[in-house]
Amino acid sequence: MNGQKADSLPKITELAFCVVFQLILQQSKEIELIPTYVLTDKCDGCIGQEKTACMYICPHDLMLLDNDGSVTGHAMKAFNQEPEQCWECYACVKICPQQAIEIRHYADVVPLGASVQPLRGSESIMWSIKFRNGNRKRFEFPIRTTPEGSAEPYANKPSADFNDIDNHSVLFTKGTHSCDMSQFIQN
Ligand code: SF4
Ligand code: SF4
Repeated sequence: MNGQKADSLPKITELAFCVVFQLILQQSKEIELIPTYVLTDKCDGCIGQEKTACMYICPHDLMLLDNDGSVTGHAMKAFNQEPEQCWECYACVKICPQQAIEIRHYADVVPLGASVQPLRGSESIMWSIKFRNGNRKRFEFPIRTTPEGSAEPYANKPSADFNDIDNHSVLFTKGTHSCDMSQFIQN
């Protein structure tokens, strides 16, 4: 009897290990899948354009316009045709003129109602962050729009001082914007 119990222990441990392993696998699959999705009530199919903005910008060629609705049931709405390949680079989210694209965020954020949405202007981009606890914050960053290939990354900028690389206050307070440093972990 004791021998049987002793024999069954490794099997139970093995089973528990398999269950845990499966859970980890499922979890990691969920974590991998955090692609874009299109809000069909906002998307206007970039009507009148030769190519939709999201199709133009996606570096992975994932966004597609469903012209007749035969794929998604939503005619003239864009969709991510291969969600598992999405890099969540936010390029399509930022370029969409209708703010119709969102990214399915990590599992610890989305079920609790948080969101991240950029609004691009001609001089700046405004990020609206809604936190899980309902707090909202907005961050505005200057942008430049130059013809492709003509950007001069360091033009009119002081050269970098690499001694500052660990100094958070330099990153967040120099020049254009300030930040409440209390929200960062201080070493
Ligand atoms: Fe729709 Fe926005 Fe894509 Fe245009 S860029 S097709 S509005 S999702
Ligand atoms: Fe493409 Fe990036 Fe948009 Fe994903 S987030 S669909 S990779 S542009």
